[in-house]
Amino acid sequence: MEYVEQFEALRENLKKKNPNIDLSVLEKAFNIADSMHKDQKRKSGEPFVIHPVAVATMLADMDMDMPSIVAGMLHDVIEDTPVTTDEMREMFGDEITYLVDGVTKLKRIPYSTKEELQAENLRKMFLSMASDIRVIVIKLVDRLHNMRTLQYMNTDSQITKARETLEIYTPLAHRLGMTKIKWELEDLCFKYLEPEYYNNLVTQITQRRDQQEAYIKKVLEAIRGKLDEANITAFLDGRPKHFYSIHKKMIAQNKALNQIYDLLAIRVIVDTVQECYTVLGIIHEMYTPMPGRFKDYIAMPKPNMYQSLHTTLIGPDGQPFEAQIRTWEMHKTAEIGIAAHWKYKEKGSKGGSGKTSEYDGKLEWVRNLLDNQKEIEDPDEFAQTFKMDLFTDEVFVFTPKGDVKCLPKGSTPIDFAYAIHTAVGNKMVGARVNGEIKPLNHKLRTGDFVEIITSQSQNNGPSRDWLNIVKSSEAKSKIRQWFKKECRDENIERGREIIEREIKKQGYKYDQLIKNEWIEPILKKYKFLSYDDLLNVIGFGDISAQKIVNILREEYVKSISGSKEEELLAKMESNKNKKEKPKQTSDHGIIVKGVENCLVRLSRCCNPVPGDSIVGYVTRGRGVSVHRTDCPNVVSMSETENRMIDVRWAEKSKSTYIVDICIQAIDNSTLLLQIAKLIAESKLPMKAINARTTRDNYELIDLTIEITDRSELDKLVKKISGLENVLDVSRTVK
Ligand code: MN
Repeated sequence: MEYVEQFEALRENLKKKNPNIDLSVLEKAFNIADSMHKDQKRKSGEPFVIHPVAVATMLADMDMDMPSIVAGMLHDVIEDTPVTTDEMREMFGDEITYLVDGVTKLKRIPYSTKEELQAENLRKMFLSMASDIRVIVIKLVDRLHNMRTLQYMNTDSQITKARETLEIYTPLAHRLGMTKIKWELEDLCFKYLEPEYYNNLVTQITQRRDQQEAYIKKVLEAIRGKLDEANITAFLDGRPKHFYSIHKKMIAQNKALNQIYDLLAIRVIVDTVQECYTVLGIIHEMYTPMPGRFKDYIAMPKPNMYQSLHTTLIGPDGQPFEAQIRTWEMHKTAEIGIAAHWKYKEKGSKGGSGKTSEYDGKLEWVRNLLDNQKEIEDPDEFAQTFKMDLFTDEVFVFTPKGDVKCLPKGSTPIDFAYAIHTAVGNKMVGARVNGEIKPLNHKLRTGDFVEIITSQSQNNGPSRDWLNIVKSSEAKSKIRQWFKKECRDENIERGREIIEREIKKQGYKYDQLIKNEWIEPILKKYKFLSYDDLLNVIGFGDISAQKIVNILREEYVKSISGSKEEELLAKMESNKNKKEKPKQTSDHGIIVKGVENCLVRLSRCCNPVPGDSIVGYVTRGRGVSVHRTDCPNVVSMSETENRMIDVRWAEKSKSTYIVDICIQAIDNSTLLLQIAKLIAESKLPMKAINARTTRDNYELIDLTIEITDRSELDKLVKKISGLENVLDVSRTVK
């Protein structure tokens, strides 16, 4: 039997690498696989077990550890034979079973090519499910062997498999630096997905093969000679690039085969980094390097750990070729990527902490790798999509049709339902997870299949409790929306109760605080059309009643303290002819003629500052508001003359004042900068600056600054007016 010989070869190979190796577990695994898969055949007609033997052999060739090789041998046993996970654990222990189980889970991920987003989610899902990186390596090798034997499948399956491989597996192989597997997978996919291009390219390359092989041989011999002279032991190798990358290059650059520069590549493998640079020097002396094509990935490794020196040279007859120079260690990493790293790690961590932390270290590395993808030079690749905390923040679950939904970790079937559609969420009454009915607060896990049970009854809808259960903000906001709309009457009623309760709690009566004139500004501020709208939102819980009652209470307090307005006016009258009393200033530095301790407010329409000529206006219930005498609003106010009152600035005031100024200028790109500089020099705090260009190309700059005195403002205005292109500087009045 052919597969028995292959297994023999695998054993021989492992023994050659390590004569003391214990092969008993692997032999046991082979016997189990052999007997369990006994009645199964591959599509080729061969016994099925030839496949796991091949997978185990490939893993051994990559120097993967014994548990991985054994798991490779057993990787189809749980899925395709009567052996259960528990039985396997009994026979092979936790570690191997864990690996096989991981591969089995990945196998159950359905594949659909509907959209790019799906592929992206699937790739992420793969990584998040395979909590041990060895699971991915085994899965990739499994896929590679299946792709190598794809000729026995029918055309439809070939295309589906190839597409899935290209979308899910080759990007993963790339991420993990497993270049050799990636290239072979890509070429196989290319062959099945674009047979015409593929055959055409293969024919063209084959036709030139003799000629090219002779060319490479000539170059290699010349280099070999020089390296011998320099006493450098090196492995030299020449190869054409893999088909799919040539194809991609031809398509991307719209070029014919003979226009592709680095069609031919030679590789020089040496022992030390020092030698790499020496070889580079020697080759650059022999051939003219093409400018801009030298890359030092030794000093700057790629995110997937790839290291090499790359350079393109003009060879004999003017034909360019690429040279890659690297050490053996780099070569290993270049070919098997993460698997190589994994091995080095193992060597270094002897006798240290237990297995778990070792694996954590490996996972950490993958996470870093994925995080670093954004720095990858080719943005075209899946850089952004892979930049995620794959193992912590998200779960990936399936719809019954096999679409993948990505939800925040801790999500429930309710989150899932709303992720599908608002209507599904609003009508849901239950959920099945992996076929079993689960409570609505059940936490979903990556790989779960979720089916939502809905009811068409009009009486159904989300429950308020759901807001405390759901995890995703999307579900939360959709549920809130529903309540806002569906339960308006109820919310208004509830809102009124809450407000009443809050007013009572603060020690007031409803009628004291609920006054139209105070409610109106609140409605305006929050953009409500009616008091009921406000109650609806309070009842629903979006705005706290306390916040609203606080505003109302403030208005109420103001109305009594400032109130005595009649009194105030009377006092004004009686004090008119009296001498001023010793001044008493408020925070604003304003003295109201003849009145002490009254509520004073600087009006916000003209923002008066000390030095401005000012006038006071006795408001209804809000004390005296102070305007500049040139404020346009004062003109209309003075119609009610008996409400105007004399005010003046106190000699000293510690307060600061906000002023708005507007600068009109001819559009000029550096103006804003110059103004900002002037303000910085003046040391006046700038509160806001806003520039816009008018249709007729004037520039308007609104500036808000803080000053203590009018003179500061005057100085600044003078400086700004002196700038070139400035037409006008004025105080703003709203
Ligand atoms: Mn398999």
